[in-house]
Amino acid sequence: MPELPEVEITARRLTAGLADARVESVLAPGLVALKTFDPPLEALVGRELDGVRRIGKMLAVEAGDLTLLIHLMSAGRLQLFDARASLRDRASRVLVRLEDGRELRLREFGTQQRAWAKLLRSDAVADDDAVAGLGPDAYPAPPLDEFAGLIAQPRHLHPLLRDQRTIAGIGRSWVDELLWTARLSPFQKGSDLDSAELEALHGACDEVLGGALDHYEQVIGDTVPDKLPMPLQVHRRAGEECPRCGARIEAIHFKDYVMCYCPEEQTGGRILKDRRLSRLLK
Ligand SMILES: [Zn+2]
Repeated sequence: MPELPEVEITARRLTAGLADARVESVLAPGLVALKTFDPPLEALVGRELDGVRRIGKMLAVEAGDLTLLIHLMSAGRLQLFDARASLRDRASRVLVRLEDGRELRLREFGTQQRAWAKLLRSDAVADDDAVAGLGPDAYPAPPLDEFAGLIAQPRHLHPLLRDQRTIAGIGRSWVDELLWTARLSPFQKGSDLDSAELEALHGACDEVLGGALDHYEQVIGDTVPDKLPMPLQVHRRAGEECPRCGARIEAIHFKDYVMCYCPEEQTGGRILKDRRLSRLLK
């Protein structure tokens, strides 16, 4: 599930790998993945790729005055391969074939097709629906007073921090880590935080997201693997001991994600109702 640190390391490695690469042809085997038709995908042919930058949780492959904007959603990957994909590879969504024989490939794992790409004129990127409403990046975190203004909403912190219009780059994995680092309950409201809590959450953005990125810089080579070695402390660790206080990490299961937290340090010792369990008991 690529979030800010995963997408940022992908952009950095691809930019390094794509220096001087020129496009030979472009294919979109995953027809539903391509969301635009003007300019046509063929407009990329013959162009030199300038690099890849991150916009929120999206990737922007830049080629002069054209930008291929990509959202990996939960199961997509954008990777550079030395050889071309078999056209029977059902994970392929968009294939950018390079003159030197390599291929920049958008793939998606699983059965759902949710990852998407849009070819836009570069000067239209900022106004695109997916970009225009984004809040500032969570890392580096905006100045504390600006951050405080963004968070001052009467909504639970867990969905609030994952709302890309509030602050960009955080998803279901890193939100658990941020709240655990700041010792805040996922069900505390943004507008109820006192100044010490705000400072803790603000500091956690740089510590956790910046720390993950530093970790990736050290352990990831030239190519970003399918599965990133995410340095997680609480997320996906339900039932294990909290690395800070030793209490049992608890989880709440939602329809398509799991929220993990330390009851001892985040919810005043209370174990929150697991919605999956309470549904089963009805
Ligand atoms: Zn703990």
